[in-house]
Amino acid sequence: MRLTAYTVRSRPSGEEVMKDPSDTRDTPPRVGSPLWIHVTGVTILGAFVLAVAVTSLVMAHKVSTLHRLPGIIGSPVFWVVAAMVVIGDVWPIMTPGRDMHDAARASVTFSFAALIVWGLWAAVLMRTASTLLAFLGRRKAPHRAAFNAAASNIALAAAGSTLWAFGDRDMPNYYWVMHDPDAIAELLLAGAVYFAVNHFLINVAVGLHNREPVRRALTADLPHELVINAVLIASAPLVAVVTATHSPYLVLLFGVPLAATYVGAAISVQREHQAEHDELTGLANRKQLMRRLDSTLAKAASSGTSVGFLLLDLDRGLKEVNDSLGHAVGDRLLRLVAHRLTHSVRPGDLVARLGGDEFAVLLPSINHTSAAREVAARLRAAVAEPIRLEGMSFVIEVSIGIAMYPEDATAGELLVQRADVAMYLAKQRRSGAERYVADLDRNSPARLALFGELRRGLDRGELELHYQPILTVADRRVTGMEALVRWRHPVRGMLTPGDFIPLVQQSYLMREVTAFVVDAALSQAALWRQSGLGIRISLNVSGRDLLGNALVDLVQSGLARHELPADALLLEIDERVLTTEPAHAAATAEALAGLGVGLSLDDFGTGYSSLVRLRRLPVREVKIDSSFVGRLLESPDDAVVVKSIVDLAAALGIRSVAEGVESAEVAARLLAMGCVAGQGWYFGKPMNAASATAWLAERSGHAIPAGTGGWEPASRPARRRQPQAAAPSRVEPGEQPERGRERTGSPMDSVR
Ligand code: C2E
Ligand code: MG
Ligand code: MG
Repeated sequence: MRLTAYTVRSRPSGEEVMKDPSDTRDTPPRVGSPLWIHVTGVTILGAFVLAVAVTSLVMAHKVSTLHRLPGIIGSPVFWVVAAMVVIGDVWPIMTPGRDMHDAARASVTFSFAALIVWGLWAAVLMRTASTLLAFLGRRKAPHRAAFNAAASNIALAAAGSTLWAFGDRDMPNYYWVMHDPDAIAELLLAGAVYFAVNHFLINVAVGLHNREPVRRALTADLPHELVINAVLIASAPLVAVVTATHSPYLVLLFGVPLAATYVGAAISVQREHQAEHDELTGLANRKQLMRRLDSTLAKAASSGTSVGFLLLDLDRGLKEVNDSLGHAVGDRLLRLVAHRLTHSVRPGDLVARLGGDEFAVLLPSINHTSAAREVAARLRAAVAEPIRLEGMSFVIEVSIGIAMYPEDATAGELLVQRADVAMYLAKQRRSGAERYVADLDRNSPARLALFGELRRGLDRGELELHYQPILTVADRRVTGMEALVRWRHPVRGMLTPGDFIPLVQQSYLMREVTAFVVDAALSQAALWRQSGLGIRISLNVSGRDLLGNALVDLVQSGLARHELPADALLLEIDERVLTTEPAHAAATAEALAGLGVGLSLDDFGTGYSSLVRLRRLPVREVKIDSSFVGRLLESPDDAVVVKSIVDLAAALGIRSVAEGVESAEVAARLLAMGCVAGQGWYFGKPMNAASATAWLAERSGHAIPAGTGGWEPASRPARRRQPQAAAPSRVEPGEQPERGRERTGSPMDSVR
């Protein structure tokens, strides 16, 4: 329940750090601020109530009910009720699907019962003790604990006064019984007063603390809280009746249904928490981010406020740490970055991790773009502080894209997309942070609709890989298979990469497509290997993949998971990417080569690579673009281009592969030119996994054993076609360059 939202934010599981960005401010409010005035006022008034309660106890002891007090304090039932109040506050019952502040506290029921039976002093003392124990136990700041205890004291005093006004003045009412039906109405009215006062005091603080309109804070969760509190308060007379029986055991029996509810709720909440949080950092995950983004935009639409959205991507740092100190330390670094980010935003802002080294920050109430820029600068500065790990110092840099609601987009997914465009710009310009600029955005509405469909397609397993063989021109040995992605679109049928990759390439979805391709291809490679086929798999990676560190991690962990050697994989990079994105792309290319993975320059001849660049890069293969190969026989110019590339590759010790070989004549001509390998319809068309497996088996003269498929990615539904295993085969294993030196491990090998 939001009644305690100002203070309690931790989960029953006990993890405290970085769970919720609004939990990051435990410093007292600024002196003189409205929040400070409110918190101080409530705390003083609450302390006054406590003083009155204690005084009334002392007075009562001296005057009228003298003989009863030792009896009350000495009776076990008093302490059982007090214990139940404490337990109720220390272990609140969470509401699945809601935040900690929506929890139900059995302490409300038991302290209300104490109010009925023993009077205000007992209720106030029990509740003060329980609140302080609960908050200080969770290591909350003392001012928060004091404020909460004060708020419930004031609410109890208001409820006590209501009962008193109805004539229930002879408390302690040790032998309380429900004598007339009006008593129920009186109690419920007192309960309503309790709820209203507590709700008001707490939610005014929440509103001021989160910098949201107080009216919104007061009404946000009102229906939900009303229901929960009605149940809690309505149970109080039952506890009071049982308390009046003096039997501590009967009171304890109330603990049974409470414990059952608590355990059930805790399990559901833990599941919900896992589903909405990033396991590594404890930050919100994409799912929660999108949910919060949608609700924030809906609120902003009704209140006419602005919302800022930042997308962050680490430029460097993580990779160095992973490489030099291992992934466990890399994980620590990510947790540290997460911690710094959460401590650089205001309460009410949401920090999420979207995977890898990508983070997002949602700023629900921001006045200007300049404020969002300030937050971006603050985040960059916080992350840039040198980090010492295992005695080494690392500097993390981050690129941030900024998109604003409503100027840049009015829908959640679109806002993320726009921030992504801005982030891409920040990376390209190396400027650190950029605001979204519509002029530089090539995303049309149709394109954006496609993103939505592709996201669903990825979740539903609509993507699959087809495989096309690559053969030596001279003796037709299979040297590898190129994986080519296909999208089995539910309406438009089978789509080839040309239908969606160019559109997706500049967006954050590319990372997910690549993650699928890498995982599916490596799974297939592992299956083929298990069947005795040492087939090397070629994968296409996009320019976008080369801008971050994610690809290197993806490949490294994929190879390890499938127990494949690095040379089982060849990554094809479009030549133009290396010429247009030289700095980032070359760094990633070298990191990949450092893993021992081969690199191939795809569509070679279209990008005007200089000889110098080609010599500097750790490249094992060039694939001559099919546009030249296709016109080889008719166009002398194209023939010259092909021949020059073949010769250049031979001189550098790099393998040449001709793409788009459609006829025997072209193959013969390539052979005459000295081209090493070829790929094209003449040698074999792209085939789905089953056909490719059969094709390989047939060439090797073996039948396919039945039931040798079986791979299925863990996180996706089983609709995708499965990679196929094949029988042992004599097909040549991943072939080495025919001439010249073999490029190995270190990127430095290629720099001569
Ligand atoms: P690419 O890497 O140059 O792949 C070769 C393309 O030529 C494939 O088209 C293949 O089907 C086609 N092809 C093969 N033999 C012949 C032939 O004899 N004649 C003709 N006309 N075409 C032939 P596809 O599958 O449509 O792929 C197009 C491009 O999409 C690929 O060009 C590659 O750049 C990209 N791509 C494919 N799969 C992926 C992927 O998983 N990730 C990324 N980032 N890009 C991919
Ligand atoms: Mg390719
Ligand atoms: Mg190509």
